[in-house]
Amino acid sequence: MKLHTFILLAILSTVVLFTGCSTIAFNYTDTDTVMTSSSVTNDSIEKPLEDSDTIQTPDIDSTQDTVAIQIEPSLANVEDAPSDSPSYTEPIDYNAIDILINKQNPLPSDYEPTDLVIPDIKFFFDGEHEKKHMRTEAAQALEQLFEMAKEKNIHLFAVSGYRSYKRQEAIFNRNVKKHGFEKANTFSAQPGQSEHQTGLAMDVSCSEVDYRLTQSFGKTQEGQWIKDNAHSFGFIIRYPKGKETITGYMYEPWHLRYVGKELATQIYESELTMEEFFNDYSNSKSSS
Ligand SMILES: [Zn+2]
Repeated sequence: MKLHTFILLAILSTVVLFTGCSTIAFNYTDTDTVMTSSSVTNDSIEKPLEDSDTIQTPDIDSTQDTVAIQIEPSLANVEDAPSDSPSYTEPIDYNAIDILINKQNPLPSDYEPTDLVIPDIKFFFDGEHEKKHMRTEAAQALEQLFEMAKEKNIHLFAVSGYRSYKRQEAIFNRNVKKHGFEKANTFSAQPGQSEHQTGLAMDVSCSEVDYRLTQSFGKTQEGQWIKDNAHSFGFIIRYPKGKETITGYMYEPWHLRYVGKELATQIYESELTMEEFFNDYSNSKSSS
């Protein structure tokens, strides 16, 4: 008899173990069993409630399936037209030197470059400030640009570089208060939309325009020089004249964006904006 009891217990414990690892369908059966049992504890009584929650889950799951099915065709479309949103096809590397940041492609609020340094160049203001920083590669390139400019008797001054998400928030809110949302949105980036958050942009000016960020800087010797030479150091004039509807920003002859020498030269020679250049590039890539 004792041996029989042992075998029975062994079989029972195996069944219990197996059921424990089994599917939801098995659990329902178990719950039913618990409910009909006369030795139900308070804990066990609560279990059917949990299970009734579980019963609702398949409905939610099936909804999710429907959503997934709805998403898939649009994903296929995105692959057909990569210009729509490449973010669906591969994760974005926000540290990429050629990262395209604009109103449609903002940076996440927690993005912060890890290699920020202060370039050894002339700033129009003294003291420590976040906006003196740039990413290392861009800072070194800007030092070379400033050095060459100086040799040509071009006296540039750095005005504003890295801009954290927090500071963008403060700046944008201040501009909205002063000018209203619509106007502010044409010249001030919403938080996350500023290229300055990449650490790859620097606004520059000169004494002739009182170191201001003004469109007349484009007419100065300094403004002309960077327009013609910035690409040789890896920078582009990111918001050119006549491209306002494409970039989403007014003409900013002072805003330098580092993209690396090769890309900067290609963009400069094509006379396109970064937006146009990448669209063309993606299209020619997909059609080949
Ligand atoms: Zn700028």
